[in-house]
Amino acid sequence: MERRIASIDEVAASGGTVISADDEAIVEIIKKAVDGGVSASFYVPRGVADTVMAWYWTPERIEALKVEVVPSDELKRIETDLGLKDVIHFANRTPCENCGHVYGAYEFVAQGIRAHGREAVEAVLELKEAVLIRVNPSEVSICPNCNGRITKGGLKLEERIVGGTEVPHYYGGTGSYAGCCSGGRRNL
Ligand SMILES: [Zn+2]
Repeated sequence: MERRIASIDEVAASGGTVISADDEAIVEIIKKAVDGGVSASFYVPRGVADTVMAWYWTPERIEALKVEVVPSDELKRIETDLGLKDVIHFANRTPCENCGHVYGAYEFVAQGIRAHGREAVEAVLELKEAVLIRVNPSEVSICPNCNGRITKGGLKLEERIVGGTEVPHYYGGTGSYAGCCSGGRRNL
């Protein structure tokens, strides 16, 4: 218990918050964050992550968000080019409205490494007990080919897209990276 309190102090020292509640309450808090459009990251025990994922990824939602299993050749490219093994299981694939390049699992992982650094990504993947759930992530998917935002309903004017709504990247990982849940105003 003393060690537990001491580690909470460490988290607080770096500006973090620790919430303590039973699993059922934590699941409710995460659901409310998803539905309310709140951006937050939750590090939870596996059982909580499983419950949230089962609630979020209904067959209807999988179909509506066009989430697909990441093909094995793409997983191989992620491993060979980006050095990350078994990092992502399913994701949506969105063609860039500007250049047609498809933004999928590979592009997402590459952007994650660019944005957060390899060490941060690897640190999450090395978690043994905690599982990371990202709710309503605020970052925008950027096409690596033309640097445009990944949108739908935008208008192509000369070499760029004007307007349109940003398409969130939906994905599910493995082990310590459960993926994201976007809901509320950002959903569909
Ligand atoms: Zn593009």
